[in-house]
Amino acid sequence: MNARARPGPAATPVHRVALVSGANRGLGFEVAHQLSATGMTVLLGARDLDKGLIAARRLVGAAGEVVAVQLDVTRQEQVDTLARWVDITYGRLDVLVNNAGGYYDHDADASGNDLAAAQAAMDTHLYGSWRLTSAMLPLMRRHRYGRIVNVSSRCGASSSSGPHCVAYRASKAALNSYTRTLADELDGTGITVNAVCPGWVATDLGGPGGRPVERGAEGIVWAVSLPSPAPTGRFFQDGQAIDW
Ligand code: NDP
Repeated sequence: MNARARPGPAATPVHRVALVSGANRGLGFEVAHQLSATGMTVLLGARDLDKGLIAARRLVGAAGEVVAVQLDVTRQEQVDTLARWVDITYGRLDVLVNNAGGYYDHDADASGNDLAAAQAAMDTHLYGSWRLTSAMLPLMRRHRYGRIVNVSSRCGASSSSGPHCVAYRASKAALNSYTRTLADELDGTGITVNAVCPGWVATDLGGPGGRPVERGAEGIVWAVSLPSPAPTGRFFQDGQAIDW
């Protein structure tokens, strides 16, 4: 047999570790569920650890381990503690889903001055995602691999208009801008950064009438699972690119 035709030693499959923020309920929980079914280790972020533990218990028996972790994305010390713990425990983070959110100020007008709602939306959607991403990036850079998915909304697209939800719209538009800027910076590093709109989904935030949470989560898991070389700096819904 030609020595060069011999198969080499089988590459050890990489065991991937994912972190999902706001995963004790809604879309985040379902994303954790679908990712754990692929065999990944999933860190289920919850700002109330008890709620996280209860949610993680519902996923016992999944192909991948699910571990509840305390995570309020507005609290720098929690984010830093979690990053250190992930480093010590796993030495890597392959997937980050910035899902934590809310603050759907449905009846708020842009002419009003509810800056508390605006501040809360920005704290979670923009600064929370930014804070968590920069804390976790060293764990992705180490292995030259990462999939960062920012859960956004078509409400934040520049083509989207309407007189209400001003805090929500502005904060998701800012998240979109952050997504594109970070994607440009990380281009060529093996770490991709994309935004995903899950569509209108029947969660506590979305209310009744939206599509099933499983369907909304699938588009997020699709973006997480893109094989290399994967697109970066894009905005997707249901696996299709949409306009910023
Ligand atoms: P839910 O209200 O069902 O869940 C929101 C989750 O985010 C909860 O786990 C909540 O935790 C958590 N959360 C809120 N603030 C923080 C924080 N500061 N730190 C950590 N976790 C936090 O919402 P959805 O599942 O519907 O929404 C998930 C994402 O999808 C959001 O970013 C939302 O904007 C986006 N989205 C949703 C749409 C929809 O139709 N549902 C449409 C488009 C986008 P707790 O339980 O403690 O409150």
